Order: sequence, then C-alpha cells, then structure tokens
Amino acid sequence: MNKNFLVQEIIRLKREKNAVILAHYYQDQDIQEIADFIGDSLELSKKAQTTDASIIVFAGVHFMAETAKILNPDKKVLLPDWEAGCSLADGCHPKDFKVFKNQHPDHIVITYINCSAEIKAMSDLVCTSANAKKIIDSIPLDQKIIFAPDENLGNYLQRETKRELVLWKGSCVVHEAFSLDKLIEIYNNNPSAKIAAHPESESHILKVAHYIGSTSGIINFIKTDPTNVFIVATEAGILHELSKAVPDKMLIPAPSTEDNTCACSECAFMKMNTLEKLYLCLKNESPEMTVSKELRTKALKPIKRMLELS
Ligand code: SF4
Repeated sequence: MNKNFLVQEIIRLKREKNAVILAHYYQDQDIQEIADFIGDSLELSKKAQTTDASIIVFAGVHFMAETAKILNPDKKVLLPDWEAGCSLADGCHPKDFKVFKNQHPDHIVITYINCSAEIKAMSDLVCTSANAKKIIDSIPLDQKIIFAPDENLGNYLQRETKRELVLWKGSCVVHEAFSLDKLIEIYNNNPSAKIAAHPESESHILKVAHYIGSTSGIINFIKTDPTNVFIVATEAGILHELSKAVPDKMLIPAPSTEDNTCACSECAFMKMNTLEKLYLCLKNESPEMTVSKELRTKALKPIKRMLELS
C-alpha cells in the first residue's frame, strides 16, 4: 500500500475512533513519525495510564501492549503485529519461574517490565531500566531479592546497588549482540567519542561505556553532554528521534557481531510492526489485547507500586 495513503488513513481513523498511538523508540521511523507519543517503557506506561483516548494502539511489543491493557482495562488496546514478542519476556516461562521462586521462599521478587503478565502477577515490584536502582534501594537491606528476567541488567544492578541479587538467566538478543572488538575499532577511529550503553548490554560493553542508562537516560545524556560524537549501544531505532534533537552531533550505532545491512543492532520483534499493519489494526480494531480480570488484578499491584515509587 502507498505510504501517503497509509499516513492519511491512519490520521483519519485516529480522529474518527478517538485513538492514540504510543510508539517505542525502537519502532521504525515511519511509525515514530505518526505516533502521538514516543518513549521508553516507563514513559509509555505512564502515558498509557493517563490517556483519555478510547483506543490505544501500542506500537511496540506484546508485553508493552499487555501492560497498557492492565493499566487501562476499559480501553481497547491494539498491537499491530501479534507476533511481536521479546526474547526476555519469552525466555521467562511462568511454570519455570514459579519453580525458581519457590526455591527462594524468603526472597521478594522484582521484575523488569519486559516480562509477561503472569510473571508480573508473581512479583512484588516491577521496574524499568530507568527506575530499577531506585526501586531496589527502596527495599530494606536485610530483605533478600530475586531479580528477573534480565541477567545483564541484574548484574549491573548488583554492582550499582552493592547488593546481592538472585538472578534469572534471561537476556535480550539485541543487547547481547554487540561486538566489543568492532566497538573498540570505531572508538579508536573516533577517540573523542563517548560510548553510551543500555544496562541490558553485557558487562564487557558496560565496562568501556562512559554512560550507562535507560533509553530515555541515554537520550538526555547525549542531548546535554558537550561531546559531539557518540557511539550508542542500544537498539538503533533510538537514533531517529535523537538525530532530530541533536542534528549537529554525530551518532554512531554500536555494531553487532552479525554483519547485517545497517551494521547495527535492531530488534527484529520491534520491527515486525509496519505502517501497513498499524493501519489495518486501527481499521479492523484487531489484534486486540485482552487480560483476564483475575490476572490483571494480580499484575497491576507491582506495576502500581513501581509507578508510585518512580
Ligand atoms: S530490544 Fe530486546 S528487550 Fe527490547 S523488545 Fe527487543 S528483544 Fe525485547
């Protein structure tokens, strides 16, 4: 379908149906351009909580749309591609997690928001990479903690909070794919550059980073730091919004070990959403996210605690 047609139709349908489009920074440029709001997980969950639209189209992945539905049971929440999953969420199955949790009965459970509603329902607190440290710091020192499902983020938080966490061994396929050798090579060619990395990245990448933070944290760092060249170790979609905010700065995506066409790291799940799928889901009001009342009530508690604390 023609791009102009799709853009016009999405705008018309949005108005007609009182819909709002929330897009993650990792979405394609075309989707970011048409979105009402672009953000990271925390910003989008807050936005989902405050919108007065009747329909939320969540241009992101499954767990994000699910979180939006948990926060907005009376709104219709749509996801352009139902198959848009996440290696972190998919790598933490509720059955296995229940066994893991039962092995550590005296621990409370803090989960990164990148997990399913079932895992959230088994958690005491949810966090994002933007508020994880603050959330862990709010727990009394003598209270033992399980952190799931991202082991890299968990390792980073252990160092930051100086606390021992029992970690679930999950990972993000995108943030695990950065090549340290290629990154160092780029850095050697741009010695004035600063490296900004997401804490989902492996520890050898974090060790060489000048700044470690959430997607929104990285954006703020690059906007405010006087350096002119940055190597950015997170999903490459973030560069679209950033390059508009800092047109005079050079932004280099951190290279992945794979030799893909853009030589950078992209999340295949995030990129499953397209403008055409977004148009069709708004037109047909499908696929629609549903969460049972019982599951929603349980999963809402730790999300609410997070939103109160952040
Ligand atoms: S970038 Fe990683 S954590 Fe984010 S949705 Fe993709 S697989 Fe999941």
